[in-house]
Amino acid sequence: MTPYLCTNCGFWQCYFAVPLSCPVCTDFRHTPPEDGFHFLTPDKAAAETRTLWTGEDTEIVMLSNSPRIGIGPNGYLLRHPEGNVFFDGAAYYSPDALGLIRSLGGIKWLAASHPHAYGALWQLQEKFAPIVAIQAQDLSWTGAFSTAWPFDESLELAPGLTLIRTGGHFAGHTILHWAEKKTLFAGDMVKFHGTSEISTHKGFNRKIPMSHAEVRRYAEAIQDLEFDTVYTSFDAAPCTCADILRLFDRQLAGPPFFGPVPMKEEQ
Ligand SMILES: [Zn+2]
Ligand SMILES: [Zn+2]
Repeated sequence: MTPYLCTNCGFWQCYFAVPLSCPVCTDFRHTPPEDGFHFLTPDKAAAETRTLWTGEDTEIVMLSNSPRIGIGPNGYLLRHPEGNVFFDGAAYYSPDALGLIRSLGGIKWLAASHPHAYGALWQLQEKFAPIVAIQAQDLSWTGAFSTAWPFDESLELAPGLTLIRTGGHFAGHTILHWAEKKTLFAGDMVKFHGTSEISTHKGFNRKIPMSHAEVRRYAEAIQDLEFDTVYTSFDAAPCTCADILRLFDRQLAGPPFFGPVPMKEEQ
């Protein structure tokens, strides 16, 4: 089987021939490419993009691709004394990026918020043999890798470092809270527009808002978490639980809507 990368969205499939279609692009949240599907093998992906990283001297290393492939999610290496965690994923990891991860202690746990941010999770599995933890309701999207630990509502990877299912954007959408660092890895539960505006969505490309019950469930999932920094699958910003709950209150105060609102309370 060969891994194939969809250049429109960045999703990998393992298949016996070049795929005819991409399940992420044809899903109701996304849009297929106007000029037809294009897929890259790992060798082609290596020739078309580089992996960049920041924060290698801190506890949170962010990896991304330049040029971007597909929707361009980031991967986050969390350096933890009980074993490193890797959450979400860049579309491709070059040999120097894999070498960096190796030099920083490899990966004990590998997890992701949802299929838009799996990236080349299969590469990290192949290289570092981590324990792959994916929420049970999203397993149908995991054809390019194998899950060792399907989890249900939550899974504590190390003391104070916890995967929590939020549902919503995807049935198995999951966030990761690092209590000691007051940091939330929020996946696609929220989106930042610069550092002053925030939004939430069911489908970004098609501008589909969240339902009220889904927003209420998001609020329940985060209401007891303390954090002052949020890393989404694509971005990072200073942001507290109150800032996100304010967005959810706005969502629940009227008809479902797509689009940003101010992140901080208006003066
Ligand atoms: Zn795609
Ligand atoms: Zn998404």
